[in-house]
Parts: sequence; C-alpha cells; structure tokens
Amino acid sequence: MPPRLGFIGLGAIGRPMAEHIAAAFDTVVWNRTAERAATFAKETSAFAAGSPREVVEQSDVVITCLPTSAEVMGVVKDVGDAWRKGQLLIDATSGDPTGSKNIAAHLEPFGVGFVDAPVSGGTDGARAGKLTVMLGGEEPWVSLAADVVAPYAGKVQHVGPVGAAHALKAVNNALLAVNIQAAGEGLAALVKLGVKAEVALEVINSSSGRSNVTENLFPKRVINRAWPRTFRLALLDKDVGVALQVLEEYGVPSGSIREAKRALGEARKVLGEEADHVELVKEIERVAGVEIR
Ligand code: NDP
Repeated sequence: MPPRLGFIGLGAIGRPMAEHIAAAFDTVVWNRTAERAATFAKETSAFAAGSPREVVEQSDVVITCLPTSAEVMGVVKDVGDAWRKGQLLIDATSGDPTGSKNIAAHLEPFGVGFVDAPVSGGTDGARAGKLTVMLGGEEPWVSLAADVVAPYAGKVQHVGPVGAAHALKAVNNALLAVNIQAAGEGLAALVKLGVKAEVALEVINSSSGRSNVTENLFPKRVINRAWPRTFRLALLDKDVGVALQVLEEYGVPSGSIREAKRALGEARKVLGEEADHVELVKEIERVAGVEIR
C-alpha cells in the first residue's frame, strides 16, 4: 500500500512541491492561511484539513515546508498526542541542525521517525520536479523518505545523521549569499568605470569567477531589471545565520560568511520581509550610486 501523505506549508516552494506529492499519493494539506489550502484542494486531487492535527490523523508520512525549525516545532507540538508509532515526519524546511535534533527527540517517544530533507533548485526546480533533496537521518526512515520525495526530486542524497542535511543546506546558501554580494560589488565597480554589465558577465562566465549567480541570477534578474520574487531575502538571511552557527560550533574561520550575514541583515532592514534574495544587489547599487545593466 502506498503511504497516505500529509503536506504542511503551501508557500512559494511548498506549493509546487505539494503539487507533485498530490499527483503521486493520496494527500491531505494544511496551510496557516486556510484560503491557500482550499484553493490547492480545488486545483488538485488533495483534501484540505482544518488543522495540523487532522493532517497527522489522516497520514502515514507528513512533509513540512515552513520558514524555520521553530515553526516546524510549533506545528509538531500543536499536533499533541495524535502522533502514531510508525509515522514519519520529513522536514523540507531549510531548518537548523539543533532544531532538527530537538524535533526528532520530541517525536521519538511516540515511535515517529524524523528526516531533515531540505531542497535546492528554487521554485523553477520545484515546478519541474527536479529539486536536489538532502536527507539527514537513519534507516529505515531515510529509505522511506527517499521514496516519498522522489516525485519532486531530480537528485536525492543521504548526507548523514539528523541535522546534517540542514547544516549542508545552510552552507550551500551561505555560498549563494557570498556570491551574490561579491558579484554585485564587482559588477557595480565595472559598470561605474564604463564596462557594460552584459559584456562583463560574458567574460566572467567564460572565466574562473563564474558561478550560478553570474550565469543565471544576474542575466535573468538583475541586468534586465526583472527582480522576480521567488525566495525571500529574509529566508536567505536566516540560512546564513544557521551556517554561521555551524561554523562557530566547529571552530572554523567564518569571515566571508559573517560579512554576507551583515550585508543581508542591513538589506533586510531597508527592503523588508517580502524582498527577494537577489534584491541584496539593489542595496549595493544604492550605496554605489549605479545600476548594474
Ligand atoms: P514562504 O514564506 O513563501 O512560505 C512560508 C510558508 O510557511 C507559508 O505556507 C506560511 O503560511 C507558512 N508559515 C509561516 N509561519 C507559520 C507558522 N507560524 N505556522 C504555520 N505555518 C507558517 O516560504 P518558502 O515556501 O519560500 O520557503 C519555505 C522553506 O523552504 C524555507 O525554509 C525556505 O528557506 C526554504 N526554501 C525556499 C526556496 C525558494 O526558492 N523559495 C528554495 C529552497 C528552500 P501562510 O500562507 O499563512 O503565510
């Protein structure tokens, strides 16, 4: 029998992931803003539940996709004693390793498994069902999680025990942030001295400084001034904070990541909670007095 799925958190990336889940399994969803869950149920074969507890009562495996581990723990506790032995919680949130271990410890007495399963690939990857999914946890839960996330995954990789996947995701996003900041600063200077952004990117993208940021984000979002909102800067700020905690815990130098965290924190204050992560470049442009185009 295929498992019955519960999905909690139909945000920018949760919703397209849940679409793939609903197409593959019997699925029940819950979202804090109920209207979003009702619309989702209308447009898919899924049912909308009235509470996280109802989701857990009707599912074998539950996927959460919320802003941070704190909201996941909130939902897990709201479910109260409705958790049943043999159930699995897969947390697709970009959470933090300590939060994951605490959630796993809360569920363990119920006989419920926990796997941290953050994703990369953005909302485009989610729509295409091609996300990279990192798994942190133990068998037999990891194998079950790998089967369940398959409908939205292009690549699934078990990376270590509970919390390891959240640590890896945070480090990945710290690299993204460092790259956005460095590319923004470098290109702002080049444009000011008279080099066209498009020309600079063409050279960088056939040279050793290239990255996903210069190959995709700048051409598709910055130099055409499109600035789509797909991944909130506030969430990237949170991820870089998680990465910093991990580095500090292990006594590793963290200068570049600390600097990206500072820049994101300042941009977040100016641009607000809804700004996209690439809008960090707008702050660099404002201070530099130039548009990168
Ligand atoms: P959004 O901000 O778009 O959505 C957040 C979701 O969490 C919404 O469903 C929201 O409900 C719900 N929520 C917020 N607070 C609470 C709460 N206290 N209790 C219950 N539900 C709550 O975020 P994303 O979908 O973009 O991101 C979700 C996770 O995935 C984050 O950890 C993010 O870092 C990660 N991620 C995002 C990517 C992206 O490209 N967007 C890429 C990779 C990872 P409501 O509808 O009521 O607001």
